[in-house]
Amino acid sequence: MMKQDILSMDLPALTEAVRALGQPAYRAGQICQWLHKNGAADFDEMTNLPKTLRSVLHDNFVIFGCAIEKKLISEYDGTIKYLFRLHDGEFVETVLMKYKYGYSVCVSSQVGCRMGCKFCASTLSGAVRNLAASEILSQVYAVQRDTGARVSHVVMMGMGEPFDNYDNALRFLALITDENGLNLSMRHISLSTCGVVPGIYRLAERNLQLTLSVSLHAPNDALRTSMMPVNRKWPVAELIKACKDYTAATSRRVSFEYALVKGVNDTPECARELAALLKGMLCHINLIPVNEVAETGLKKSTAENVKRFEAYLADRGFAVTVRRTLGADINAACGQLRRSSVKT
Ligand code: SAH
Repeated sequence: MMKQDILSMDLPALTEAVRALGQPAYRAGQICQWLHKNGAADFDEMTNLPKTLRSVLHDNFVIFGCAIEKKLISEYDGTIKYLFRLHDGEFVETVLMKYKYGYSVCVSSQVGCRMGCKFCASTLSGAVRNLAASEILSQVYAVQRDTGARVSHVVMMGMGEPFDNYDNALRFLALITDENGLNLSMRHISLSTCGVVPGIYRLAERNLQLTLSVSLHAPNDALRTSMMPVNRKWPVAELIKACKDYTAATSRRVSFEYALVKGVNDTPECARELAALLKGMLCHINLIPVNEVAETGLKKSTAENVKRFEAYLADRGFAVTVRRTLGADINAACGQLRRSSVKT
């Protein structure tokens, strides 16, 4: 019999599973507390449960955990990047960042990625598999256990495309905001997509208070398709329409990510096109000097070009920021650590 993935269960599901084993319902509350409040990684840590019950749990359930394979700490800003080993030997990356407002964790949603963005290291060797909700969640728990930090913010901006693993991504969001778990505020969560339009519409229906980030990176189809193959399926006009519909449905402003690549998408012409494209939208633009990944050959924009690009947009009334580069000395960019560790 397959063991059940216990960390993907919320309290009602856990209660049902515990009842099915002939155990009293209050045990589910205790187990839930151990798993989601105390971050227990093993049933033997659950010391207020009888030994016999712990062994029944062992026989019927598995706690999908994250083992630390590598850990890099930035000398500049204390950002910590983890390479976690999953139960089947696959690896994902997770990053802990410290901000003025608290600790934020960047989680991965897939092992690898099949979206093929030209600048991104995560996708270089394709997608391997989806993560279960528990495996996304346990990245946060493992970071908390390792550092003692109380995480208050989560960004789904690690490896993988959350909308290519929609159900598990949404289950993760439900679990991490559950009052029986970390009880994070939806407003402290961002989910980033490369532009999977049906995912944007599905999420809009849920009307959650999280921040939707959209990786735009280019203001027109020719350029965007050359950087992001996903644009062939859902071109710029469709994507922008979906973002407008998202805001209409949720009253939330969309955040656009724009990675500046030297000589590719950082020209004054691109800034003009971008301003025209987003005109009148309730949105935020996040400019990111591209992280250079050896295999891509792409170079980051000069500081001067970044400034000019930012100023052009700010002058036209856009809410625009340049992302602070955290962990530049520890390969904190998407997928770089897994790549340097796994021979693929
Ligand atoms: N698949 C989702 C989330 C993961 S990528 C998405 O595409 O949004 C998280 C963010 O990092 C995206 O905005 C992505 O475009 C960006 N990114 C990937 N590689 C990068 C690089 N080398 N430099 C800067 N940003 C990068």
